[in-house]
Amino acid sequence: MKVLKFGGSSLATPGRIRGVAEIVLGEKRAKPLVVVVSAFQGVTNQLLECASLAARSDPNYMAAFKKIVRRHRSAIDDLVGTRRAASIRAQVEALLAELREVLHGIQLLGHSPPRALDLVASFGERLSAVIVAAHLNRFHRATFVDARQCIVTDNQFTSANVIFGRTNRAIRRFFADLFGAGRPIAVVTGFIGSTSDGQTTTIGRNGSDYTAAIVGAALLADIIEIWTDVDGVLSADPNVVPSAFVLPRITYEEAMELSYFGAKVLHPGAIAPAVAKGIPLLVKNTFRPHAPGTLISRSAKNGDHLAKGITSIAGLTLLTLRGLSMVGVPGTAERLFRALASRGVNVILISQASSEHTICFAIRDADAAAAIATVRQEFRLELHHKLTSLDEKPNQTIIAVVGDQMKGHPGVSGKMFGSLGRHNINISAIAQGASERNISCVVDTAQQSRALNIIHGAFFERRKRLALFVIGTGNIGGALLRQLHEQRPYLFSRGFDVTVIGVANSKRFLLDGGGIKLERWREKLAASRRRMDARALAREIAKLELTDAAIVDCTAADSIVRAYPEFVRANLHIITPNKRANVLPWRQYVALMDLLRQRQPSVEQRPSDDLVDGVVTADIFAHIEQRSASVEQRGRMKASGAVDPRSENENARTDLA
Ligand code: ADP
Ligand code: ASP
Ligand code: MG
Repeated sequence: MKVLKFGGSSLATPGRIRGVAEIVLGEKRAKPLVVVVSAFQGVTNQLLECASLAARSDPNYMAAFKKIVRRHRSAIDDLVGTRRAASIRAQVEALLAELREVLHGIQLLGHSPPRALDLVASFGERLSAVIVAAHLNRFHRATFVDARQCIVTDNQFTSANVIFGRTNRAIRRFFADLFGAGRPIAVVTGFIGSTSDGQTTTIGRNGSDYTAAIVGAALLADIIEIWTDVDGVLSADPNVVPSAFVLPRITYEEAMELSYFGAKVLHPGAIAPAVAKGIPLLVKNTFRPHAPGTLISRSAKNGDHLAKGITSIAGLTLLTLRGLSMVGVPGTAERLFRALASRGVNVILISQASSEHTICFAIRDADAAAAIATVRQEFRLELHHKLTSLDEKPNQTIIAVVGDQMKGHPGVSGKMFGSLGRHNINISAIAQGASERNISCVVDTAQQSRALNIIHGAFFERRKRLALFVIGTGNIGGALLRQLHEQRPYLFSRGFDVTVIGVANSKRFLLDGGGIKLERWREKLAASRRRMDARALAREIAKLELTDAAIVDCTAADSIVRAYPEFVRANLHIITPNKRANVLPWRQYVALMDLLRQRQPSVEQRPSDDLVDGVVTADIFAHIEQRSASVEQRGRMKASGAVDPRSENENARTDLA
């Protein structure tokens, strides 16, 4: 038997639901099929928003409710054949009426306790499963199954714990009866369960994956398939790291680490039931059903990469308990974590210095107030006598590198922390699990996207990437753009992926983080409506959060040189034949060099294979120079994070066209 789970992204529109039906009906039905569905995309959030509006007696709650009503009614019109439409419509209308009653109750109460939130959220999956079952029924017998009939949980509403003994027995009994009488396709509601006294619960956001694994494990399925909107588990979140790629095979442990540390593609709870019964999980793309997907199983042959994936969790606060009173005093950590556990605070990462002088731990922002109050209470004496202090750092993100093969390979953490250091990203805490399968560090959330891309580049990307913004389009700039265009394939073959993300002259600029097509840059620049202002440009480039980028200042303009500090703060290297920076007043020159040293440690470093830094950039330019039959500008461009005072730039002309 087989379990197929379809997430909200696969059920966003009637068109997508038809695609889901095609996949389900395309399965060989020699064995029983269980289909687990989430709510239609976005509906759980809309339901919870409705509940919160109702609790505040906000009149908009009825409008929000009606939107949900319209969406489900129109799905029935679209998907359910006329023969059964009346009975399905009646079933859906009954659910919608019940939902309206619950929301009304919340409004009267002026409060939406977790128990009520779970009841409200449950309608998303109940409505979706009824409609998907009705649609499948047009082609093959299909039955709606309300998971509350067999998934038994405790009463920790909004993230209830499954009581496995009772749940497994109930599932086996239920499906034995169902499949005993013919072989319908069972369409089961994901995400929801019920306490033993019949109250509706949910098993945590994104929990339908978990439902699929619970049902699959109880029924000893051959495979549990998670159908979603990406080609499988990727080496990083594709929304943040464009170069992320699909991992064909990973182990249960790797999947657990990746999902626990933020890879939303799979709920972390989904792994344990599958491991317990040795059932493989397959993550597949509903929109590209022929793509092979990612197989998650006991063993996974590794490619040549040490790491498998990189993930992150934002929205954290880092708390550091610090003080001499902790040195050599047994039981401090025990007191700290027992106190936190007693308040239900989930600690996500812990790091303790070997001197035992500090214990540093990360918690979710939502838990910060409770955690601080708890620690202050527990350590009130030490804090009172100023023997101990508690520091708080909000807006933090954990970045985790995961992979079974990292174990016993020296240099993995060096690669991770070295690449962050070279890009001037400060690390607030570090933790490595004893399994060596996960190395985590904490950085400012503002650096999350850059940090992920930098580490991904360091571990997985063979080509060195470089994004260039060319300022000045006269002889030098024009020739450079032509050479970059002509020699892109050559540079690519030499392992350099160089894109031009922008061009500016004295009047206007063009900027596109994805790269500008260089065939017609002159026309595009002439048509651009964006007025050139070097400082504003630096701010715009900073927003792109590029990892390896440089401006090439092909002007002799003071205005650009004055904006160098802004460009450096936007994490850009500066490449230039412009001598103006070298004849700045001494104080400004020294300040600029200090800033470069401080922001771009690579300026001081020897070349290394795994980074794009000033030295690699120099390599690229050396290639361009060698290859160019006619180099209009013989003055050398010094490529580095620094503006080199010794550069031979006598021939640089005023090129700000
Ligand atoms: P569903 O609605 O199918 O449950 P989710 O939105 O919960 O889908 O999960 C799929 C999404 O997870 C993807 O669209 C992707 O944006 C995100 N994601 C984050 N990290 C990863 C990763 N490492 N691999 C694949 N997808 C990821
Ligand atoms: N619908 C639920 C949610 O949005 C469960 C799921 O999608 O898996 O969290
Ligand atoms: Mg999901």
